[in-house]
Amino acid sequence: WEDDEHVVQINRGFRVEFNSALGPYKGGLRFHPSVYLGIIKFLGFEQIFKNALTGMPIGGAKGGSDFDPKGKSDNEIMRFCQSFMLELCRHLGEHTDVPAGDIGVGGREIGFLFGQYKRVTNKYESGVLTGKGIGWGGSLVRTEATGYGTVFFLREMLKVRNDSLEGKTCVVSGSGNVAIYAIEKLHQLGAKVVACSDSNGVIFHEKGIDLELVKRLKEIERRRIADYVTYHKDSKYIAGGNIWEIPCQVAAPSATQNEINGKDAKTLVKNGCIAVGEGANMPTTPEGIKVFLDAKIAYGPGKAANAGGVATSALEMQQNASRDSWTFEFTEKKLDEIMTSIHATTFETAEEFGATGNYVVGANIAGFVKVATAMVAHGLI
Ligand code: NDP
Repeated sequence: WEDDEHVVQINRGFRVEFNSALGPYKGGLRFHPSVYLGIIKFLGFEQIFKNALTGMPIGGAKGGSDFDPKGKSDNEIMRFCQSFMLELCRHLGEHTDVPAGDIGVGGREIGFLFGQYKRVTNKYESGVLTGKGIGWGGSLVRTEATGYGTVFFLREMLKVRNDSLEGKTCVVSGSGNVAIYAIEKLHQLGAKVVACSDSNGVIFHEKGIDLELVKRLKEIERRRIADYVTYHKDSKYIAGGNIWEIPCQVAAPSATQNEINGKDAKTLVKNGCIAVGEGANMPTTPEGIKVFLDAKIAYGPGKAANAGGVATSALEMQQNASRDSWTFEFTEKKLDEIMTSIHATTFETAEEFGATGNYVVGANIAGFVKVATAMVAHGLI
């Protein structure tokens, strides 16, 4: 692709089509300089079982590029997306492989990718990408879905323990798509989020995070979270800080993989954290997961807790297939039902296998059995 100085730049793109036993390959695209084949493979592998848990007819895949969108102009983003799709388009199709967004890929990028797909294939194939704009095939609630869904899952985990989110102090890492809408739903359900972050630092605002400001800074002006303190003198910016040192009752890691290690998990538990809902994919290291399970806090692993995003992508595919568009309320209700059902499935499966309250066991077994059963039914190759 050509940058604004007319210099040709080269990045590597990936798409790992992992499993299509339950439906067309489905999973997001990530644009981040850290992307390499290993990251795309682990995300794709997890995606298979997550997608199975949603109960929707979708297989598992993941893709992306080591392209770094930070500091790029809209035109540079557009040219990169066009270059990437020029190759990717031959592998996609509404019945074959349907990508969506992930880190660094939001509505703007999906628009450029869709435009190029249409141009090259000469087809208006709405169902080939999800996360589309509302005016051209997108679904209401898709933007909010992962964050909202994670909070619905947290709500269900607390319900089992005769508790609720009402009045809880929460910490949400990141300030991207998942983080923003996790904060929004936590606030709607009566909790108070006191901290969020980006890869440079942490914002602590004891009064509660001003979400409208975060949306403006991150979604519209594409600025750094450090700028938050300019508007709220009573908030604090901790450059390079560790968000997990801020005491909270509920944590929603919503930035990236491996952001909570064993030490962070211990700090969270020591400070009184009773529930963790993973908005991000694999944000907790194996050592961290062990700490949460040993402490018997409510721990919702990403493949169950953040499945609301891909589930709503499947709802977008349903609307595209029937040339229909649903209201916000109707779609959010469906998302809520799906998350409640994923919670029930994972909770009951864990119970059935003698690991009551262990959602890791529940999610892994329930997802695996569903995919394996379909693969066996399809016969050996
Ligand atoms: P965004 O790009 O919108 O936001 C990512 C946020 O995480 C930003 O605040 C970013 O900060 C921060 N971040 C990214 N990489 C790092 C890093 N290496 N270290 C510290 N902070 C980092 O992405 P999403 O919100 O879409 O995705 C967040 C997580 O949720 C990912 O794990 C993703 O796989 C997962 N997920 C997303 C879904 C979706 O629907 N979007 C669905 C299911 C899971 P900065 O701006 O400084 O990079």
